[in-house]
Amino acid sequence: MRLLLSNDDGILARGLAALERAAERLGEVYVVAPDREQSATSHSLTMHHPLRPVQIAERRWQVDGTPTDCVMLALEALLPERPDFVLSGVNHGPNMGEDVLYSGTVAAAMEGLALGVPAIALSYAGSVLRADALLDDHAGTIEQILRHLTSLPAFPEHTLFNVNIPPIAADQVQGVRLTRLGRRAYSDSLTKMTDPWGRPIYWIGGGSVSWKDSAIDSDFQAINDGFVSVTPLHLDLTHRDILDRAEQWWRPL
Ligand code: MN
Repeated sequence: MRLLLSNDDGILARGLAALERAAERLGEVYVVAPDREQSATSHSLTMHHPLRPVQIAERRWQVDGTPTDCVMLALEALLPERPDFVLSGVNHGPNMGEDVLYSGTVAAAMEGLALGVPAIALSYAGSVLRADALLDDHAGTIEQILRHLTSLPAFPEHTLFNVNIPPIAADQVQGVRLTRLGRRAYSDSLTKMTDPWGRPIYWIGGGSVSWKDSAIDSDFQAINDGFVSVTPLHLDLTHRDILDRAEQWWRPL
């Protein structure tokens, strides 16, 4: 098996190292990752300056671009052959609910999928500051999940799996739960500050998060209950229910 790894925390991230260690037990690993932090860059593509991949070891490149750039470059230029899977992460912090719309980790997996390669995004759903120590404890969890998802009898078409690992010791994990995206509410995520010249500036991030639903099948609830959460995602944002009920609200032109 040939595996392409990327992430959005940058090539030096401990989460990527944890993913590499697990993936190496499954097959031949290629890493193409951003040369710096690219969290919350979503699915952005660098179009206004060129990208320079730097090969830093065998089967390992860093790129001065976004996670999406990395996967595109890997699949269309750097890898000698197509990988069987694109794996992204392990992100330092959760990617649940609406997070997936901002996440560079999930976007890297989406880009793999958009280019026809089955993909899995993995995130450590705990505090970013504590991610380092606990991530190492989850080497076995990560390997087990990867083994399972890459050997499904039929990896579903047009699907990526979004995996979140609960922020508890590996031996406390209750199991794996198939979930749907929850809905989160951010508050105080904008902090007003003053620059060195006394002008107002704003820093996005931090604040607190609450969840609008606690349905048992949501990603958030699975993590809360100590389970690994696995959410199947697809790229089609069409609101099918609304479309199916068009006769109730749509007036033909
Ligand atoms: Mn990140």
